[in-house]
Amino acid sequence: MAKLFHWRIDVAAELKRKDEELTSSFVGDGGVPLAADKIRVDLTTLLETGVRYLPADSRCDCFDPRRGCIGHDLERAEVAA
Ligand SMILES: [Zn+2]
Repeated sequence: MAKLFHWRIDVAAELKRKDEELTSSFVGDGGVPLAADKIRVDLTTLLETGVRYLPADSRCDCFDPRRGCIGHDLERAEVAA
């Protein structure tokens, strides 16, 4: 059966980005801007606790922080669409 995989954010790859790229991608609660250093500390902490990927789609209900979305079975009609 065909599967749908949701997008994921690669934490290690994010850490290699420039400061201005990080601050435009990650914001705090309520849209509050975050300092690049704070984002780097938080991402590093995630990596150290085994989180390699973050979900990029809130609809994903089968997300594994070490592998990303593990896949959703698609009905035949969804595959044809
Ligand atoms: Zn998913």
